[in-house]
Amino acid sequence: MTRLGWFLLLAFVAVIGTFLLIVNKGGHIPGTSRPAAAESDAPLAAAGAANKAGGGLIVPVAGVQPGQLTNSWGDERGDGTRQHHAIDIMAPRGTPVLAAAAGTVEKIFESANGGHTVYIRRDDAGWQDYYAHLDAYVADLREGVKVRQGQQIGTVGSTGDASPEAPHLHYEIHRMAPGETWSKGSEVNPFPILHG
Ligand SMILES: [Zn+2]
Repeated sequence: MTRLGWFLLLAFVAVIGTFLLIVNKGGHIPGTSRPAAAESDAPLAAAGAANKAGGGLIVPVAGVQPGQLTNSWGDERGDGTRQHHAIDIMAPRGTPVLAAAAGTVEKIFESANGGHTVYIRRDDAGWQDYYAHLDAYVADLREGVKVRQGQQIGTVGSTGDASPEAPHLHYEIHRMAPGETWSKGSEVNPFPILHG
């Protein structure tokens, strides 16, 4: 090979080498960009939006609109020994129960009347939401865990003293005075709030 031949060969190798170096250094090759992160919260957010109710809350049972609610506040319970200070939201067993508001799980409690229950303190600590007769909790529900509005916390059921033929969510709203813990507070009728 002539001197010029060697020179051209070396120059060729140098050009190819430089090109490969640029590509390997992470030079951007069109068409290979990573897709945007998946919106993992999308289904929950969608469920919440569909259930939009008054008071900045959502109806805490998936697929139920505010207009479908009935006011069962003040109904007699326990053969007239006590009044119903809650709203009962009828739904098939297993329907997702959603957090009406964002907050922190304060207490998961087994109640004779309420069955599987959960108390969630809102981010505004002056309010607490109470959910009862759950068929089951979601697997990762723990005391101290934060929940987003619309996040599923369990499923509709009939645990406690609810009729097995009429599964429903028993939902209460509690006004909490400073320092009051989960078992305290005073019930407020959720119906006019949810109804808007
Ligand atoms: Zn009830």
